[in-house]
Amino acid sequence: MAKIQMKTPLVEMDGDEMTRILWQMIKDELLLPYIDLKTEYYDLGLKHRNDTDDQVTIDSALATKKYGVAVKCATITPNHARMSEYDLKKMYKSPNGTIRAILDGTVFRTPIVVKGIDPCVRNWKKPITLARHAYGDVYKNTELYIDRPGVAYLVFRGDDGTEIEEPIQEFEAPGIVQGMHNMDDSIRSFARSCFSYALDMGESVWFGSKDTISKTYDARFKAIFQEVFDTEYKEKFDAAGLEYFYSLIDDIVARVMKAEGGFIWACKNYDGDVMSDMVSSAFGSLAMMTSVLVSPDGIYEYEAAHGTVQRHYYKHLKGEETSTNSVATIFAWTGALRKRGELDGIKELEEFADRLEKATIDTIESGKMTRDLALITSIKDPVVLNSRDFILAIRDRL
Ligand code: NAP
Ligand code: MG
Repeated sequence: MAKIQMKTPLVEMDGDEMTRILWQMIKDELLLPYIDLKTEYYDLGLKHRNDTDDQVTIDSALATKKYGVAVKCATITPNHARMSEYDLKKMYKSPNGTIRAILDGTVFRTPIVVKGIDPCVRNWKKPITLARHAYGDVYKNTELYIDRPGVAYLVFRGDDGTEIEEPIQEFEAPGIVQGMHNMDDSIRSFARSCFSYALDMGESVWFGSKDTISKTYDARFKAIFQEVFDTEYKEKFDAAGLEYFYSLIDDIVARVMKAEGGFIWACKNYDGDVMSDMVSSAFGSLAMMTSVLVSPDGIYEYEAAHGTVQRHYYKHLKGEETSTNSVATIFAWTGALRKRGELDGIKELEEFADRLEKATIDTIESGKMTRDLALITSIKDPVVLNSRDFILAIRDRL
């Protein structure tokens, strides 16, 4: 069988620990036998990040800007323990944070839905994709503990000398205050990313905020979303039979629980932080969640939502058998290959991505799975496979 040819390389960002092991197995068993795989390889493994003073992370993000599509393995975000474990020169920032700052995108997380791994919410039949605004609000706040009587003000001093001053609270006893911000441009690119991704996926967009209470701050989010939708997307949504639906965040939450899924839920930063953990655990497993960073100018970086599965890696190093779930990492590859195929007009590549996803899902639905899924499946007597045998079972089916 002739291998599928590619035109433009994918930006390949290798990573750490157990996911690095899976990465190589996926390439060897599921990709290289079928595709003449073209990638521009960046080793984001912590050792190489340290060797290059983290320049490799920046280079990989710039390459993603150049080529348009990247696939990323999970990577270690250094903490104190990692400083000594890897003898690091400094405590580097999270690679995802660095890449996101360069690409300026929105992260979309989607569960991979499989029969036999049932969502806790009975009526969820289709995946719910969560889009989290990743800038500002409480994540970039200024806070004070007030320990004595006095008045707290919100003050703005313009470069032109204007001064606006609003009292926040007259304190008679100890308490707390908080100041936070967001930027029109950031909200606008968030809205564009959501609407573009929705057209891509053929799904509607739901967005909620608390504009009845926050009449300037949250109301600004609502207004910008509506303006971007009306001026840039309404016609395309109409043509595709999709809708943009805004409501109060509490109403949205209630409707999400009653819905059957199949839409994109755009969330402000904090809402997205909280709700993505709720949605992913209610769908079954973090190991079945894909993640894609989409920039407002249409650049895509695909990855798994989970980390490097450190605990399994230490077992692997001791020569013990592991049963680590590779599904989200496989879907990161298929997402990137499909997008590359789409952009370069290579139908075979898109079809290959579809087939590999189907082979993966069919393998699980036939009862062959990794331990994490066997623990939660409703399939009777599942066969628990080790990390490699699960990938080989998918290859058999493929
Ligand atoms: P983790 O790697 O997601 O793993 C946490 C636990 O979840 C694992 O111990 C395992 O549970 C289970 N799990 C996650 N993925 C699994 C899979 N594919 N198959 C089977 N079980 C899976 O999170 P962590 O241990 O908190 O973080 C480890 C490292 O990953 C850290 O250095 C962190 O910085 C990094 N990280 C990277 C990213 C990223 O690159 N996007 C994201 C998050 C974390 P059991 O042990 O019970 O089997
Ligand atoms: Mg969180």
